Amino acid sequence: MLPGANAIAGEWGHNPLPLPGPEDLPLPPCYCGRSGCIETYLSGPGLSRDHKALTGEDRSAEEIASSGGQSLLRYIERLARALAGVINVLDPDVIVLGGGMSNVESLYAEVPRWWGKTVFSDHVATRLARNAHGDSSGVRGAAWLWDELRKP
Ligand SMILES: [Zn+2]
Repeated sequence: MLPGANAIAGEWGHNPLPLPGPEDLPLPPCYCGRSGCIETYLSGPGLSRDHKALTGEDRSAEEIASSGGQSLLRYIERLARALAGVINVLDPDVIVLGGGMSNVESLYAEVPRWWGKTVFSDHVATRLARNAHGDSSGVRGAAWLWDELRKP
């Protein structure tokens, strides 16, 4: 585990979405006080917000993901762009998705088709994998650390 000097290692969601284009503007405000954070695009509420901006329709992330369409394609391309930054810094063997959006099956085939455009390599061997313990695996992992962190 890499906690980091500031205890924020892995806080990827509040980095700015890389290489924003006209379709990413205006940068959505984030609850952290900044605008354009990855989380404002790539969370379930972020997908719903973007879909409403694109179509005027109020839809849940689940509805958008199950129907496909332009909003889901925008989501896939943005996720690929954002994960390419992780690959460029950490060069991991595998990236495991968590959270509610990790239930969207098409991400695992589609996102790796797009991330090569931004990864600094001609070949990307990193795999994108579904979590093994459900979409709250991050919380589960934190709970497993509880006893370890309480030791003097
Ligand atoms: Zn933020």
